[in-house]
Amino acid sequence: MDDYNSINEQKRLEALYSYDILDTDTERDFDDLTALASAICDTPISLISFVDKDRQWFKSHHGLDARQTDRCHSFCSHAIQDPEHLMQVEDARKDVRFQDNPLVTGSPDIRFYAGMPLLDGDGYALGSLCVIDQKPKLLTKSQQKALQTVANQVIGKLLLRKNNRNLILANKNLSETNSKLKAAEEKLKEAIADLKESKDKIQNILDIVGEGIGITDSEGNIVYTNRRNQEIFQLDEKSMLGLSNVSSEWNNRRSDGSSMPHNEHPITVALATGNPVVDYILLVSDQNGNSKYLRMNAMPIKDANGTVNGAIGSFADITESYLWQQKLKESENSLQAAISSANLGTWQMNVQTKELTASTRMKELFGFYPDEPMSFPAAMGQIAESHRQLVNDIIESSISKDEPNEFEYPIVGYHDKKLRWVSATVQTYKNPGDNTISYLSGTIADITERKMDEQRRTDFVGMVSHELKNPLTAIKAYAHLVNRAAKNYNDNALEDKISKIDHQVNRMENLINGFLDVARIGEGKIKLEKSQFDMADLLKITEGECLNMITSHHLVFEHTTIAIVDADRNKVEQVLINFINNAVKYSPTDTVIYVKSFTKDGYVHITVKDQGMGIPGKDQGFIFDRFYRVESDAMKNKKGFGMGLYICKEIIERHNGQIGMESIEGIGSTFWFRLLLV
Ligand code: ADP
Repeated sequence: MDDYNSINEQKRLEALYSYDILDTDTERDFDDLTALASAICDTPISLISFVDKDRQWFKSHHGLDARQTDRCHSFCSHAIQDPEHLMQVEDARKDVRFQDNPLVTGSPDIRFYAGMPLLDGDGYALGSLCVIDQKPKLLTKSQQKALQTVANQVIGKLLLRKNNRNLILANKNLSETNSKLKAAEEKLKEAIADLKESKDKIQNILDIVGEGIGITDSEGNIVYTNRRNQEIFQLDEKSMLGLSNVSSEWNNRRSDGSSMPHNEHPITVALATGNPVVDYILLVSDQNGNSKYLRMNAMPIKDANGTVNGAIGSFADITESYLWQQKLKESENSLQAAISSANLGTWQMNVQTKELTASTRMKELFGFYPDEPMSFPAAMGQIAESHRQLVNDIIESSISKDEPNEFEYPIVGYHDKKLRWVSATVQTYKNPGDNTISYLSGTIADITERKMDEQRRTDFVGMVSHELKNPLTAIKAYAHLVNRAAKNYNDNALEDKISKIDHQVNRMENLINGFLDVARIGEGKIKLEKSQFDMADLLKITEGECLNMITSHHLVFEHTTIAIVDADRNKVEQVLINFINNAVKYSPTDTVIYVKSFTKDGYVHITVKDQGMGIPGKDQGFIFDRFYRVESDAMKNKKGFGMGLYICKEIIERHNGQIGMESIEGIGSTFWFRLLLV
């Protein structure tokens, strides 16, 4: 076969295979046609034969048992060489092409053959409709025509069959597609149900979140609002939907109350720029006309192409905290004003890092320049050596006990070397998370003037007292001599006068001793002479003396059996006498004074309770200060110098004891101290 023929044969075979007819079962339609051809042509055999690559295969084989023969013996493969015409072989024995063909020389003893090529629509001869006889003959014209018609029928059937098959295939595809579609529809339904469920879930979540949430379209018109949003604005969902973010309904204002231009609204900004806006403080009015401060975030919603087609706004009602903050700011401002008008220095220190932040005024008091750094050790270095450890201890005790403190100490200025006295306060601040003290802060006030004044007074008092002491001792000695003489002369009147002089001299001596004590305390010269003694014993002796001396008041003593302390007996007695004398001095005659001692928690407690004038609340914090006296009408006739309690405090604190008082003005006071038991 040349190239053209071989390509053609290839195409012809492809056309044949496209009918999918080879090796299929016999079919009645085709068998009817071969029977018809045999009848028309009066032949015992009629075949519908398809010429395959190496064989011819019979779809219908009327009068012949075989279903296929080799192609090399095939008559039909000759017939299809001339696709347009019927091929007739009158007597195969006389035809050189077939005379040696086994189908001619043997069974089925072919003599006559007429084959009508079966042409498909594209002109390919797929095979032939042939009639065969065992005796020589030729078809009449009308037989030939009829055979042609039957051949057309075969082609028709073939096409029908092919179409049917395609149809079935298409149907199959269709039903497959249908079931796929059905499955897809089911999935879609499930997805829609899921979507609805998750939408409901989201809606539920949005409804329980503490923040108001609203969604707008690209124009800023509300398309969704959660429940909280409706609560904030006091509007129901129906009334809210469709409203614009800049609608007059909201009365949008800035946090300072000024009106807000539309283009400043966070939703408008998010829609216009495609960027989120966070933590904007907005002032609005709800439907009841109540102003509300809202912290607002706005987030643009973008589609897959990045086009902004809406925005989400979230609102937190911060009215309460905002107003508090404002108040706090105001009070902070007034505090600052107070601090600066009192010329106070302020400081803050990180407990962990010991990083100190000091105000300009504080630096000034410590002798540093305003722009100069002042570290904690640098500040400590300027505190006078006598007080440095004390200041350190007080700060440490504030941290460990979490309590505020107030204390006074001298400083030597860093640059100017000037001595200044300051009064300092310390406050503790806790870490909100772990409850540990994280910060200390406080104020520093310049009290140099007051301290100097006090010092001058103390110096003066000390000096004068000292100077008075000698003449007083001389007066006392002379009075003693005169008293003896008076006794010798039995001069009772003189003796009485001398005893009065002695009494006044004793009073004066006590006063001078007090002044000297104050001066000694100031100079740190007060000395303790400690010994172990029984407090109950001291009280018993004091009781005896007091009951003899004091007749103006009813003294009631109540004391423990035994309470041993290691202390300076004279000085502790001085404190007790001072308390009793004050109780007598500051309460009306005939009232009761209770003096009591008891032991508790390893201490002996002494209390002196009166029914006197009491101490006003504003004075109570200063009552143990040097020279402090209450100024009131009731105090006008009460003489004194405000030294007694100051000395008492020094004595008890030098013993590492505690001293204090409780008092209600007009009702009475209880003064107390406690000392460690041995
Ligand atoms: P003085 O009694 O000499 O003034 P003190 O230091 O003993 O000095 O007392 C200081 C001030 O405390 C008194 O001036 C008085 O105002 C007040 N005070 C002390 N004891 C009492 C008391 N028992 N009742 C009322 N006020 C008292």
